[in-house]
Amino acid sequence: MKINFIGATQDVTGSMTFLETTTGRFLIDSGLYQGISSVTQKNILPIPFNPKDINAIFLTHAHLDHSGFIPRLIKLGFRGKIFCTKPTMKLATVIINDSAQILENSENHPLKNFYTVEDASIVTSLFKAVDFDKPFSYMGLTVTFSHAGHILGASSIHISEGDKSIVFSGDLGRQDDVLLPPPKSCPPANVVVMESTYGDKVRHVDLEKEMKSFLNKVKSESRVAIVASFAVARAQMLITMIHKYFQENPSEAIPLFIDGPMMVKANKIYREYASQTKSPDELSFALEEVDIIEHTRQWESLRKKKGPLLIITSSGMVTGGRIWRYLENWQDDSNALLFLPGYQGVGTPGKALSEGKHNIQNEEGKIIHWSGEVLTSQSFSSHADQSELVEWLKDVSKDTKIFLNHGEAQSKEKLKKLLLQMGFTNCFIAESSFIEI
Ligand SMILES: [Zn+2]
Repeated sequence: MKINFIGATQDVTGSMTFLETTTGRFLIDSGLYQGISSVTQKNILPIPFNPKDINAIFLTHAHLDHSGFIPRLIKLGFRGKIFCTKPTMKLATVIINDSAQILENSENHPLKNFYTVEDASIVTSLFKAVDFDKPFSYMGLTVTFSHAGHILGASSIHISEGDKSIVFSGDLGRQDDVLLPPPKSCPPANVVVMESTYGDKVRHVDLEKEMKSFLNKVKSESRVAIVASFAVARAQMLITMIHKYFQENPSEAIPLFIDGPMMVKANKIYREYASQTKSPDELSFALEEVDIIEHTRQWESLRKKKGPLLIITSSGMVTGGRIWRYLENWQDDSNALLFLPGYQGVGTPGKALSEGKHNIQNEEGKIIHWSGEVLTSQSFSSHADQSELVEWLKDVSKDTKIFLNHGEAQSKEKLKKLLLQMGFTNCFIAESSFIEI
């Protein structure tokens, strides 16, 4: 077995690892680089393999930075199988189609026509659904997907050939996630490839307390609150938490709306697979009850409303999507509130707003001057922190080769240092080069 780290070696996007065995060539994830233009430009660098030679992709989860490069591989001739869990298959279909539409239709996009809606539609025909915790054989390999928490369908993947074995963590979730069970610990293996997004941080958060104080503020100060959310996972988590709080505290309830076509599609998939979450009834009830803004008429009546009012809309980093019409509508209202409950990438309008800037510009050049308050929070992330990453390794022997990827340099360095201190003797930072297992 040989591996080569192709993406997510220097940052947290563009996940892609090449695996060569005696029987074939495979990829674990194939994601887009996302962020400022110097990062997105990495998507157009030459890839060190011929997509036609790849037999299969093992996809850990649906996020675009793990799945969004697959249509590009299709465009370049890839026609192998794509193994993933059923919820990942459905969520990835929504995410990849949305990405293809943006790349095909946005005039000024730096990756315009990188792939098309037609390329994305071929992805769907290559999916092969697998069950959690059920090993299967493919081209001489034994492969097992197990729960990684993080988002619906997310998996870690164990691959073995003869007496060699390797585990890819994928993105790992939190031990006490609102919706998803904790990740299943890493099984013993010769090699482990582990994400390290929060490899340098321990995050003790009381999500319910934070949410309660936000909702109380909106209610008591009669605010119009616009919540910028990722359409998949974050939105479903926020809707469930808010709905639960209003159910338990009816006198605190305020009107809640969601707006975003991708969010609505993701809600449907979360409802379909609610049994894979920790709170199937609460989740289903919340997603069923929430008011959706679908037609111009509903938007016209909503835009005249006064607070208290809650609107969850995308995109999470204010780079585009429906949120722009809300910001435009309430931009002169100093009592309006923008809540950014997630990571804001460098160079995004969300980052600018979180740093106190008021003038923001979207990809089409539209400028908005936001007069209202901006609240931020890092607590709602669905990534394991440093202690949870270490916890995931509890069943792994200390001489296992561990490669850290998917993290900023500082996160990887700090996590590596900690693992060495704990007695893990073979800990490395992933780099783009072939490694024999
Ligand atoms: Zn992810």
